[in-house]
Amino acid sequence: MAASKDKLATYRARRDLDRSPEPAGKVGKKKTSGGRTFVIHKHAASHLHYDVRLAIDGVLKSWAVPKGPSRNPKDKRLAIVTDDHPMAYGRFEGVIPEGSYGAGTVMIWDKGTYRNIKKEKGRLVPMHACYQRGTIEIFFNGKKLQGAYALVRTTLHDDNWLLIKMRDDYVSYKPAISDSVSAVSGRTMKAITSDAKHKKTAKRSKR
Ligand code: MN
Repeated sequence: MAASKDKLATYRARRDLDRSPEPAGKVGKKKTSGGRTFVIHKHAASHLHYDVRLAIDGVLKSWAVPKGPSRNPKDKRLAIVTDDHPMAYGRFEGVIPEGSYGAGTVMIWDKGTYRNIKKEKGRLVPMHACYQRGTIEIFFNGKKLQGAYALVRTTLHDDNWLLIKMRDDYVSYKPAISDSVSAVSGRTMKAITSDAKHKKTAKRSKR
């Protein structure tokens, strides 16, 4: 199990988890019944971006997607691999303090389950194999995101992938997916930020 412990080493090394409200977490169980968890964070760091996270083998495999997902199959959205995150990160919404890695407000933009749909010779290719090969095909069942998407590694750089909507009934050519509020708390980015500030002030005045 040493290898799976190491999965979160980068995540921990980059953060001072005493200073940041982000979860420490640990590598979760591999087996998932029904769908697997996915979460998409909207993250107002130095550059606003979306973090697409898929539960694969007990961790949340993660990609930073500067422009976020699209429903238009013609859009190829750059998705840059970031460190594996603990499963508990799927419940994190709040503010990473200034001076910390990834400082800024984090919203759970979407959350739900996904299904692996990548087949070869009529058989499903296991998710970890899809990840290793850089050819993921999944079906999202979220609050905002629905339908089939491909995540494919480019040949130019190992960490650069593309997130592309596959053709199905959920394709849309409208410009943007409504993204103003959290899929779990209904809060805007502004509200998440000010809630965190109030929490801090309350803590301070308690002392
Ligand atoms: Mn991020």
